[in-house]
Amino acid sequence: MEISFWMVILNKINTRGVLVRRGILGINDAMCPLCMSTFVELVDHLTIHCHYRWSIWLKLIEWWGLSWCCPGNLSDLFKQWEFLVHGEFQRKVWSMLFFAIPWSTWILRNGSRHCILPSHIVH
Ligand SMILES: [Zn+2]
Repeated sequence: MEISFWMVILNKINTRGVLVRRGILGINDAMCPLCMSTFVELVDHLTIHCHYRWSIWLKLIEWWGLSWCCPGNLSDLFKQWEFLVHGEFQRKVWSMLFFAIPWSTWILRNGSRHCILPSHIVH
């Protein structure tokens, strides 16, 4: 799980957008399988900006009584995340939540009934 997560953070996973850029999928296959919108499935859309994920991030921020200016990409969010809360226990819980959202998104995305990617492409 850790290796896969770091691949997500480093934007090294085969999203539909990446596969289209590499010529593996056609442009019509690039859309996000979660929201089925016209947004291209890229790491930052899938893990932060897709409205399904965005609402979870906002709920977390709201529950902890925080305010923020969300960075545009997951890597910057990761760098910022741990500094949003104080205290050792809070930081551990907070960090766990950070990992849970992208990870659960990736699991959801790979299990999506709209996902048409061959299994050898999905990590
Ligand atoms: Zn989406």
